[in-house]
Amino acid sequence: MSEFDRLDWDKQAGLVPAIVQDARTLRVLMLGWMNREALAMTQASGWVTFYSRSRGALWTKGETSGHRLQCVSLSVDCDADTLLVSALPQGPTCHLGRDSCFPGAPGNGLAELDAVVDHRMRERPAGSYTARLLDEGPLRIAQKVGEEGVEVALAGAARDDAALLGEAADLVYHLIVLLRARGLGLSDLETTLASRR
Ligand code: AMP
Ligand code: ZN
Ligand code: ZN
Ligand code: ZN
Repeated sequence: MSEFDRLDWDKQAGLVPAIVQDARTLRVLMLGWMNREALAMTQASGWVTFYSRSRGALWTKGETSGHRLQCVSLSVDCDADTLLVSALPQGPTCHLGRDSCFPGAPGNGLAELDAVVDHRMRERPAGSYTARLLDEGPLRIAQKVGEEGVEVALAGAARDDAALLGEAADLVYHLIVLLRARGLGLSDLETTLASRR
């Protein structure tokens, strides 16, 4: 028996609400509805599929826009009437072009930055400072991290909050780029931090 057998399909006429959350930033992206078939399709294909109540048909998110949601995991809530979908969005999730249907919803800004840097690393868009840094290689990036570290130390010693925050932002950004250049990400950093707790 899988945990999905617990799902209470009768409560809402054969449907359950499915909250979609970004697997990286943890930001809530959208809410859709699933029937048994939509859930089975999501599990079989790995692409988040809903039941569209307005169209009365299965709807794989991104089927026309291309902005699909790659399913990472599915979980059932305490009383088995709601699904939580952790997914990797392949583009803006909201049909208004925003990343989330709840643009102001809380999310991990550092994880978002890491995702942007990862994207720059793979696409190397022209005119991107991050892409240029990555082209220069880990040694140059490591040098930048060293410089920013010194600037953070100086700003911290000078008791200037605005300067400290500015330099800390520079340091964190360059550190994320350095990790990415070495094939590592914030999740690896979190694993190391967790091992020290
Ligand atoms: P898509 O699934 O992205 O190809 O979009 C197909 C259609 O689904 C759009 O024209 C919208 O009507 C609808 N749609 C797409 N994304 C959302 C969303 N996040 N919330 C509600 N409706 C959506
Ligand atoms: Zn519930
Ligand atoms: Zn939306
Ligand atoms: Zn700086």
